[in-house]
Amino acid sequence: MKPSHRFNHDHFMVKPNKKVDLSDFDTADTNGIKNKDAAQEALQSDIESLSLAQELLWASAQKGVLIIFQAMDAAGKDSTIKHVISGVNPQGCSVTSFKAPSEEEKQHHFLWRPARFLPGKGHIAIFNRSYYEEVLVVKVHPKFLNGQWLPADFSEKHLDDFWKHRYKEINNWEQSIADHGITVIKFFLNVSKKEQKERFLDRLNKPEKNFKFSAADVEERVYWDDYQKAYAQMLSATSTVSAPWYVIPADKKWFARSVVADIITTRIEALKLKIPSLSKTQLDALAEAKERLLNE
Ligand code: ATP
Ligand code: MG
Repeated sequence: MKPSHRFNHDHFMVKPNKKVDLSDFDTADTNGIKNKDAAQEALQSDIESLSLAQELLWASAQKGVLIIFQAMDAAGKDSTIKHVISGVNPQGCSVTSFKAPSEEEKQHHFLWRPARFLPGKGHIAIFNRSYYEEVLVVKVHPKFLNGQWLPADFSEKHLDDFWKHRYKEINNWEQSIADHGITVIKFFLNVSKKEQKERFLDRLNKPEKNFKFSAADVEERVYWDDYQKAYAQMLSATSTVSAPWYVIPADKKWFARSVVADIITTRIEALKLKIPSLSKTQLDALAEAKERLLNE
């Protein structure tokens, strides 16, 4: 197996209880990788390693992996997911996109929706956006709470405690998922406001990219600073030992893909999974089956 772990992962990981200020993070950082070609080579090798690591995950069926992607619009979630899992066996992997919740979903606890899509043993589940929208878009627009049938008082005074409570609920939930043998990996693709504008303009200028553009994205851009604040608070409150956040510089798409693939591969390899060894009875049954086939 080719070596993974090319990047200093600690450099991207948010330490538990660390107060995050996103202005400290360089969105164009490439961690010493000089150019696209070098990153491409690393990505290709990691895709191969990930493919092998996933086979082992599937065959051993002892652990699962939950990977969460959060980001502002046009940060590259979709294309990162597409590239990173291109070598993965689709039978052992699922991708769930979290759009605005349905009426039914709004009537339930906010963790009811994602619970159905958690990975079983041997599986990788990827969330393209996630329940974290409940402390991001919903925090920026508290009016969304109105549709949620929540009983408490949501005056300004109570809101602060409300968000703290949600962070705690998320941490507790992720802890119990981790205790169940699921590795939880969370990525925030950190794109700059300037780069987002370039990507929106690119979508507008190229007819073949027009379909990716949504006027609502430009509306939401007005709230950029509020989102940055909500992201920073969420990262500060919900990066834990069992479920850490990685802040990935995303102005260079080739870099973001490469480092995400490297972290996922390394985290799965670190599980040190083995093909299960068979018991004496199972081995005897195999020998008997072989003999029957040979004697047909
Ligand atoms: P793309 O634009 O690349 O297709 P996307 O993830 O931006 O991908 P959209 O359909 O554009 O998909 O956006 C989904 C929208 O749903 C986002 O604006 C997101 O904030 C919103 N959303 C997701 N979860 C919730 C939630 N729990 N409450 C309110 N809005 C939510
Ligand atoms: Mg969108």
